[in-house]
Amino acid sequence: MEISTVGVVGAGQMGNGIAHVLALAGYEVLLTDISQEALDGALARIGKNLDRQVARDKVSAADRDVTMGRIKTTLSLTDLGETDLVIESATERETVKQAIFEDLLPHLKPHTILTSNTSSISITRLASRTDRPEKFMGFHFMNPVPVMQLVELIRGIATDEATYQACLGVVERLGKTAASAEDFPAFIVNRILMPMINEAVYTLYEGVGNVNSIDQAMKLGTNHPMGPLELADFIGLDTCLAIMNVLHDGLADTKYRPCPLLTKYVEAGWLGRKTQRGFYDYRGEVPVPTR
Ligand code: NAD
Repeated sequence: MEISTVGVVGAGQMGNGIAHVLALAGYEVLLTDISQEALDGALARIGKNLDRQVARDKVSAADRDVTMGRIKTTLSLTDLGETDLVIESATERETVKQAIFEDLLPHLKPHTILTSNTSSISITRLASRTDRPEKFMGFHFMNPVPVMQLVELIRGIATDEATYQACLGVVERLGKTAASAEDFPAFIVNRILMPMINEAVYTLYEGVGNVNSIDQAMKLGTNHPMGPLELADFIGLDTCLAIMNVLHDGLADTKYRPCPLLTKYVEAGWLGRKTQRGFYDYRGEVPVPTR
């Protein structure tokens, strides 16, 4: 299965990184979002991140320009029908993802592979609502995409071997490493990571520590490069809450109940770095803890 054009749905923090690494690896990329502002922001962000790679001699100035030239944007989802592979990376909500695939289906070429960058939602369930469950799988990048080495590849119950191999080929062309995960809630990375982040929020909620002491303790005490609350802000608190809800509903175990304080931050619209406020306030020169 030859893949040369890739459609990316959602131009948020993950979508822009995915478009960046695909274009740098030589794929023609068509990036779509419901918001023109998100598309413009993504192109600006990709340009800035490529500039940083040029400054560090990781990418040549000529490759930077060629890479930018390979990324086209569109507000019309159906334009992605012409691509060989679609990577859906819109908001972590099943109804949103389902509607995207539904709208896209009538416009797809028969061979097009569909994938989702979902952090937690059932690949099998998303696939079952399409006309090609055997050509559907999870393609889960880590944040920030240009930096992180891992991609989790998740087979749904019906995913065929040719589809898996085609996606594995893409991961290898990106110079990244694939870990294969079975399709159970939150797969491998978030099944382990998110309960830890949720527990850090409980630790804050119960007053065992404040934001600074919790992050400091985990950085210096367990050699994590970021504290769990700083990491939660980086991921997005809405995404963290959505993943905890998927774990809680999907595994029906109370040990996955989302911390009420996490819910409260999301209700306030304090979603972390992307809204400039979460467990830290990012509006000033340096991040300031909000608790
Ligand atoms: P984000 O909030 O930064 O971006 C989501 C984008 O999707 C927004 O630009 C929004 O306008 C767009 N969108 C919403 N509905 C849409 C639609 N119908 N059609 C097209 N675009 C639409 O979120 P993100 O952090 O980039 O997360 C995107 C996906 O990646 C989620 O499934 C998330 O679970 C997954 N993911 C996130 C991380 C992380 O660390 N944030 C890591 C791995 C995977």
